[in-house]
Amino acid sequence: NKSLRKAVIAGNWKMNKTPTEAKELIAAIAPLVKDAGCDVVACTPFVDLSSAQEAAEGTNIQIGAENCHWEKSGAYTGEISADMLVSMGVKIVIIGHSERRQYFGETDVTVQKRVRAALDAGMTVILCVGETLEQREQGITSELVAMQTKIALGGVSAEELKRVVIAYEPVWAIGTGKTATAEQANEVCHTIREVICELYGKASADGITIQYGGSMNAANAAELLAQPDVDGGLIGGASLKPNDFAVIVEAAT
Ligand code: PGA
Repeated sequence: NKSLRKAVIAGNWKMNKTPTEAKELIAAIAPLVKDAGCDVVACTPFVDLSSAQEAAEGTNIQIGAENCHWEKSGAYTGEISADMLVSMGVKIVIIGHSERRQYFGETDVTVQKRVRAALDAGMTVILCVGETLEQREQGITSELVAMQTKIALGGVSAEELKRVVIAYEPVWAIGTGKTATAEQANEVCHTIREVICELYGKASADGITIQYGGSMNAANAAELLAQPDVDGGLIGGASLKPNDFAVIVEAAT
């Protein structure tokens, strides 16, 4: 029952936009989404967070980060801790994005550690899971996504799970213009909900927000978001285009 859950549309800007451009982009998006009936988030590069926050002040846009490290501080060159994000008022963070897994050596185990650290810091996590094309063709999508979800949530309590959003992102659909069909998206989102039910029970499964991500755009968002188990979207390319992003937000409302 979708009415039990909060729809969340989150932009994932990836490695795009300077601080000045971030301010401009938030300023362009804000008036277009001000009447949104869903949560609206923009996850930006670390260096853009301050200016994006400044531009988002007084709007309904929440600013999030794209990753965080699992240690609180120390000799981890190039990393940013969850506490650092919280200290600047950032309360949402994407963890386990497939680009982190593909290009930067993230594993289910490091994803689990980062989820733990973000939750310990009081943040909300957008946890990404999803299969590659090869894995889909092997017929192991359900098992793989179930496993990714279970490992990432190892040690997470039902209470903490209220601060977890799961994004199902088939790797073959990300940035490729190849969207999963609405049925494919719903099927895997449903599988994830069953995993949550198995781990935490029905109330948690009914309450958790599960997004679809992967070439969601202004043209296909309505159909994807109408699916019974798709509660929102994690949006890459289209989140950089104010009008397209606004259409997606509208479709979730
Ligand atoms: P895309 O990216 O919308 O550009 O496919 C989605 C994502 O990677 O979160």
